[in-house]
Amino acid sequence: MERDGGAPDRLRELRDEIKRRIDYRSFYLRYCPDARQSGPRLQGFCPIPAHAHSGKGHPSLSVDLQQGLFNCFSRDEGGDAITFYELMHGVTFARAVRELARELGITGRKGKQPSLASRAAPDTEAAEFESFEPLDAEQLSEVCARFLEVCRAEDQLEGFNYLARRGIDAATVRRAGIVYFPRRAYRRVMRRMREGFALETLRRGGLFNRREHLTFYHHRLLFPFFVEGRALYLQARTTAAGVEPRWHNMRGHVPALYNVDSLRALASGGVVYLVEGFTDTLTLLAHGFNAVGLVGAGGLKEEWLAPLGRFRVVAALDPDAAGRRAAARYQEMFAARGARLAVVNLPSDVNDFFRQHASAALELELLTEEAVEGMKDDVTTGRRGDGETGR
Ligand SMILES: [Zn+2]
Repeated sequence: MERDGGAPDRLRELRDEIKRRIDYRSFYLRYCPDARQSGPRLQGFCPIPAHAHSGKGHPSLSVDLQQGLFNCFSRDEGGDAITFYELMHGVTFARAVRELARELGITGRKGKQPSLASRAAPDTEAAEFESFEPLDAEQLSEVCARFLEVCRAEDQLEGFNYLARRGIDAATVRRAGIVYFPRRAYRRVMRRMREGFALETLRRGGLFNRREHLTFYHHRLLFPFFVEGRALYLQARTTAAGVEPRWHNMRGHVPALYNVDSLRALASGGVVYLVEGFTDTLTLLAHGFNAVGLVGAGGLKEEWLAPLGRFRVVAALDPDAAGRRAAARYQEMFAARGARLAVVNLPSDVNDFFRQHASAALELELLTEEAVEGMKDDVTTGRRGDGETGR
C-alpha cells in the first residue's frame, strides 16, 4: 500500500523510475559527505534529524549502494532512498517522490522511460554480432511472409500516396508486393509479429532488437525481394523527411536483384533494364518497361547474371561517377560470360527523367534502340503494349 492516498499508481511508476535513474552514491553522499565507501557500502554518521545523533562515537549509518537501501543500526530504522529523503526533509512519501522525480528530470508519463522511437532503435552492430546466427532461407521467408501479411492488413494509404507522388501508381505497388503500415499501427504490428514467432527468431532476422521492440519504426514502407515466389528479404524506407538513415533492412544479405521474379514470366529476347534502387525499378514498371534493380550502383553479383542471360539487358544507372564506373564494370562482367550489356545514358536518374519529361517513355525507347543496335537483329524494346500496363 502506498502511504499517500492520491494517485498511487502514478506515484508507484514515478518511484520505480526514480530507482532506475538515481545514482545512489551521489544521493547519499550529499547528506553524508564524510561517509566512507568500502566495497558496495557506505558507512557514516547518520544525518537523519529526528534521530538526534550526537555525531560522536561509532558511525551508525550503513548504505547498500547496489540496492540503494540505508540502515541506521543505532535507531534500527532503514529503508530505501525515498524513505531516506522523507526522513531528511520531513515530507510525505508523495512529496518525496515528486521532488526527487523533478530533480532527476522525470517530468511526466512521457519522460518516465525512453521514447518508443529509441526503444525501437536497431541494435548496434556489436550487439548483433554477439547475439545470433542469421536465419536460414526457410525461416526468413516465413518471417517475411508474415510481416508482409500483418502490414498489409493495416491502412496502406500513406504509403501508396508517397509512391504516387513519385509517379508510381497503385497497381504497380501492388504487383511489386510493397506494403506499408502507419505509425499508429506500430504496436499492433509488433504484437502480431510477437504472436507468430519466438523472440529469438525475430531478433535473428533483425526485426526485433534486444529491447524486444520491432525495429521498423521510422521505416514502414516495405520493399520485399521475391525469389521464386517467396519473399526472402526486405528493405524499408522512411516516408518522413529528415529521418536518417532513410533505409532500414532485415538482417542478412540482399538475395537477388530487386524484382528478379518478374523475369520468369517474360519471353526470351526482350529488353530488361538494369537500374539503381527500388524507385527507378518501379518507375519503369509503372511505364510498362521490364526492369530489375540494384541496391546501390556497385551491387551486382556474378551469381545474379544467370537469370538475365536470355534477355537483352540495358543498364540505366545514375549519371554520376559511381554509376558510370559500375556500368563499365558490369559490361566486363557480361562480356566474361559471352553476353553483352547495353548502356543508356540519361541526363538524370530514371525517376527524375520520367518526372521531368512528358515524353520520357518514347525517349527511353529511342535511346534503347540505339544502345542495343547490333546486339541482335530484329531489335524491339521491352515495353509492353499500353493495354498490358495496368494503367
Ligand atoms: Zn540514525
